[in-house]
Amino acid sequence: MTIAVRLDQTRLSAALASVPQTHELFIGGRFAPAASGKTIERLSPGHGVRVATYAEAGAADLDRALDAARKAFDHGPWPAMTGAERSRLLHKVADLVEAKLEIFATLDSLESGKPISQARGEMAGAVDIWRYAAGLARDLHGESYTTIGANKLGVVVRDPIGVVSIITPWNFPFLIVSQKLPFALAAGCTAVVKPSEMTSGSTLLLGRVLAEAGLPEGVVNILSGYGPEIGAPMTTDARVDMISFTGSTRVGKAAMAAASSTLKKMSMELGGKNPQLIFPDADMDAALDAAVFGSYFNAGECCNAGSRLLVHQDIAAAFEAEFVERSSRVVVGDPLDPKTLVGALISPQHLALVEGHVANARAEGANVALGGSRLESEGGQFMAATVVAGAKPSMAIARDEVFGPVATLMRFSSADEAVSIANGAEYGLSASVWSRDFDTAVGVSKRLRAGTVWTNTFMDGAAELPFGGFRQSGIGRELGRNAVADYTEEKTLHLHCGPRTAWWLPR
Ligand code: NAD
Repeated sequence: MTIAVRLDQTRLSAALASVPQTHELFIGGRFAPAASGKTIERLSPGHGVRVATYAEAGAADLDRALDAARKAFDHGPWPAMTGAERSRLLHKVADLVEAKLEIFATLDSLESGKPISQARGEMAGAVDIWRYAAGLARDLHGESYTTIGANKLGVVVRDPIGVVSIITPWNFPFLIVSQKLPFALAAGCTAVVKPSEMTSGSTLLLGRVLAEAGLPEGVVNILSGYGPEIGAPMTTDARVDMISFTGSTRVGKAAMAAASSTLKKMSMELGGKNPQLIFPDADMDAALDAAVFGSYFNAGECCNAGSRLLVHQDIAAAFEAEFVERSSRVVVGDPLDPKTLVGALISPQHLALVEGHVANARAEGANVALGGSRLESEGGQFMAATVVAGAKPSMAIARDEVFGPVATLMRFSSADEAVSIANGAEYGLSASVWSRDFDTAVGVSKRLRAGTVWTNTFMDGAAELPFGGFRQSGIGRELGRNAVADYTEEKTLHLHCGPRTAWWLPR
């Protein structure tokens, strides 16, 4: 058997020596082991060695964390601080994370198997978001109405919603908590945060940064632990006012059903099956580049993966040949190697699932033109860049989120057909349209049912722009100018100023 992925043990030892590997819970401003003493061992997906031990939170720890968050909201200084004070603290957090960027990135790469270069990019993006939220903290405002009567004034204020449960997945652990927590904090909320049990390190390290920045105790509490034990009660507990969840559509639905018992506000960022539509007049080099990037970035473990490739029949044969050639040059390798483009998949079970998707596509009649199975390595779990060609919109591979380095190629003959296939999935997170013709590029973009549509570009992001999904890709939007307002309740103050006359019961 040929070893396709070699691992550099010296680099691994240096990386391990540079990061904390034992992580405690962060509750009420203090770090502590779980009350039960239990821990979770994390093996590196890339190397198969232990890279972290997290405290495993249980019911007693969650109870303390919720009490701390509730107390900090109801009696602590945080909600009453000025926007400027909260802004200063968020800027400080951004500066501290930036100063420790290499540690954060190394932790995430070790725990998730993603390439170190991409982990660094994720951290830099997260720092930018903390700064954006810090700016918005000073701009939280309501509305006033002077048109509702001579002696009346209507003022709509925005109160922080209260205690927020923040639940995050494993694929972009630090970016995703950064799309939620700084905005909740900017609004004056307090939070209990549960990162994925597979990649909790960077979020727990954030706890140290928050403490160092001087965040009042109990404002943020961080628990590593499992979904059913910790995540589920975080969606039902009466001390929680809002849930901000990112994860799979399956768990999102369960969380929404659970949250209905206490009617909590929910913000949900869920799965995607995102099409890229390539028309004959597209800039072919750029479209191919985006197709390769969209399929294999973060090993395809990306809610925004643009791997559902719809190509016009007139150019399909040439596009497919070139796409397979470029895909064959994608370097799958040691996540800690700066040259690696595709790292390891998150777990052996997930690798088997991704392989199963490809086998199923083959059984349904699609052609696996490249890859399709795992790569032998000296440690973790890796999969070859994989191209499934000749897929039909009805096949599972064309409809289900695969969450692995697998591209699916389909053909269309008209813009109407492309739009109908693109909008045919149950998701609606993002899409991309490639055409040099204005009417096609903009006209088709307008017809797509997705939260973000890129036109002649792909996966550009900016903290200023709202992000979220249509249909089963989620509810609500993150980022953008309304991101802080999302963590508030509107309260109407209906004010009367001036003499009163009896208006109902005659005197
Ligand atoms: P997941 O749904 O399995 O888990 C997400 C989080 O929920 C984890 O912290 C998990 O422990 C927790 N959880 C599990 N069961 C729970 C329960 N019953 N109640 C409450 N919480 C529970 O998702 P994952 O496998 O970690 O992440 C991959 C998924 O996340 C993909 O579907 C991907 O598309 C989605 N995702 C979406 C976005 C987006 O912005 N739309 C971003 C990243 C990932």
